[in-house]
Amino acid sequence: MKLENKVALITGAAAGIGRESAVLFAAEGACVAAVDLDEAGGRQTAATIEQNGGKAIFVRADVSQSADCRRMVETAETTFGKLDILFNNAGIMLSADDDAVATEEDVWEKTMAVNAKGVYLGCKYGIPALRRAGGGAIVNTASFVAMLGAATPQIAYTASKGAVLALTRELAVIHARENIRVNALCPGPLRTELLMKFLNTEEKKQRRLVHIPLGRFGESAEMAKAALFLASDDSSYMTGATFLADGGITSAYVTPM
Ligand code: NAD
Repeated sequence: MKLENKVALITGAAAGIGRESAVLFAAEGACVAAVDLDEAGGRQTAATIEQNGGKAIFVRADVSQSADCRRMVETAETTFGKLDILFNNAGIMLSADDDAVATEEDVWEKTMAVNAKGVYLGCKYGIPALRRAGGGAIVNTASFVAMLGAATPQIAYTASKGAVLALTRELAVIHARENIRVNALCPGPLRTELLMKFLNTEEKKQRRLVHIPLGRFGESAEMAKAALFLASDDSSYMTGATFLADGGITSAYVTPM
């Protein structure tokens, strides 16, 4: 087992990548604090882990709120005795997110608050806990859109994910000598609720698929395996990395038909 005796906090754990990662990390031996705004989904994740014989708690928290982030870390530490892994994964993509002209300021602010400030707040309260544990691993979920411009605009989302990459690199450098590794997971387009709501017609889906060399959307379970690699000692010599699990989309100029 890759995460035996480890304690992991995962945000956005009620669905998608976060849920799959919570279940996988627990199966690999970690005690999991599953954090989300969505109470029903978060409780379901924790229940699934317990049914599989693992250890998990659900903590309801909004990652854009400082008091919530402080409490989620405190709860994980008091329940399981320490924190070794912090997976800042919660994120939103709002349907009104468009180009700079059409995007309203509230859409920009909400997106930045969850996707970028949420990662900063997770680190603000999580890093002292990792220090108390003698070090650990942070994984921040960014996106392939932090690397490429898209003609289907989502300007606030793209900017927020660029921020996640930039702050991941700086955190990695600052905390390297404290035995804390920090890496960014950059998923490609996935068949999750988040993206399928945004690509809500067959035409929009096909328009995206045409750019992916592997010819299909990725699965949350595939991202969970990549997150496990970054969270475990398997990636012990990696920090500050932009880890792409994107079906080849960022490597392609023209894709095979
Ligand atoms: P998802 O919508 O299935 O899951 C996201 C989870 O985050 C949900 O359970 C939601 O309730 C939770 N959440 C949203 N706002 C929150 C907040 N303020 N506080 C706490 N929890 C909150 O989406 P997913 O695809 O699993 O996305 C996970 C991460 O992966 C996100 O950061 C997303 O931007 C990123 N990502 C997704 C794709 C994709 O194609 N789906 C691609 C690249 C990156």
